[in-house]
Amino acid sequence: MKVLVVNCGSSSIKYQLINMDGERVLAKGLIERIGMEGSVLKHTPEGKYTVDINTDVPSHAVGIKLVVQALTNKDYGVIKDMREIDAVGHRVVHGGELFSDSVLVTPDVLKGIEACAELAPLHNPPNLHGIQACMKLMPDVPQVVVFDTAFHQSMPPEAYMYGLPYELYVKYGVRRYGFHGSSHKYVAGVAAEMLGRSVNDLCLITCHLGNGASIAAVKHGKSIDTSMGYTPLDGLVMGTRSGSVDPAIIPFLMEKENMNIQQIDDYLNRRSGVLGISGLSSDFRDLESAAGRGDERSQLAIDMFAYRVKKYIGAYTAAMGGVDAIIFTAGLGENSASMRAKICEGLEYLGTAVDDVKNHIRGKAQEISTEDSKVKIFVIPTNEELVIARDTANICRRIIKL
Ligand code: AMP
Repeated sequence: MKVLVVNCGSSSIKYQLINMDGERVLAKGLIERIGMEGSVLKHTPEGKYTVDINTDVPSHAVGIKLVVQALTNKDYGVIKDMREIDAVGHRVVHGGELFSDSVLVTPDVLKGIEACAELAPLHNPPNLHGIQACMKLMPDVPQVVVFDTAFHQSMPPEAYMYGLPYELYVKYGVRRYGFHGSSHKYVAGVAAEMLGRSVNDLCLITCHLGNGASIAAVKHGKSIDTSMGYTPLDGLVMGTRSGSVDPAIIPFLMEKENMNIQQIDDYLNRRSGVLGISGLSSDFRDLESAAGRGDERSQLAIDMFAYRVKKYIGAYTAAMGGVDAIIFTAGLGENSASMRAKICEGLEYLGTAVDDVKNHIRGKAQEISTEDSKVKIFVIPTNEELVIARDTANICRRIIKL
């Protein structure tokens, strides 16, 4: 079975065509600047060079057509005909409380995604455009949606409720939802395999540390708490997002800096985090090299990031009554040995010990704790596309006997 995985952002489309027999990526690519000047499709067939296709992409519908044309192109395509695509799996950011698992697209599911757009106004509408474009272009091909929030729907109310009047939850669904669900689920599963145990017997802490960062407590295969909240702004200090701040800072800023709500939103989402602290960059590679040259604010940004991750690890160990393994994933988690070491420094009382030699790896699945470390530590590259493709294939096999 060949599954096309589609991830539509507000001005981008990421895609992978995966052959589920052997879970091989046949081609992947990215369209950027949809609806703007200078849009480009970068298409990479398996084992070959990337082809840049510079062309106008005014809408997601045009973008999806271009993706299919690239996949079937006689020079750099990987399939002869669009009919070789058996199913399409879409990443959808917000499923609210309506969706606790991946589902086959039906008219009711489309309405549900639209209803959740209030919770994710920047993300769900382009996700929906992508689904509609694929349905139009491939009307007989089953479409499946995989939600970023779904894995965290198992959180209990004491973890997902805010200390706000209960009416806000009833009226507007104001609660914590959590994100990066496919990533947390994937790395928890791989860690269990690497430990040779069932995920249902384990307490795991999964640290997705990229430009956006979140951490989850995965007890017996289920997320019981996670650091992102009603939106992805909550929790850890991130590349450009503040993470949790005292909400009283917002009216203070509005008064002192004369900011309106849009400006505050921009400040907290795009100008804060390690970028705001360092005044230099949101990229940890830049911060690590600047800190190495003695830049104090870059060092402070790194220290703050590591300190907050460490605090969550402590909190989630308490929430689960113990921890069997800690997993690092995403851009920073997979690549920065120094950040992993810094986070784990001082966690020895939990029974964790990093092996400095093993820790010197990048982007590959490996245990990095010492032989006698009671709590195991892993680096596991995430693969959200594979989770989407697997869910899509499973649902198609189960429901429509594909
Ligand atoms: P992601 O959002 O998962 O793509 O992660 C992107 C972030 O990972 C970048 O902004 C960097 O901060 C970080 N990153 C990627 N590679 C490295 C590296 N070799 N060393 C330190 N940080 C890295």
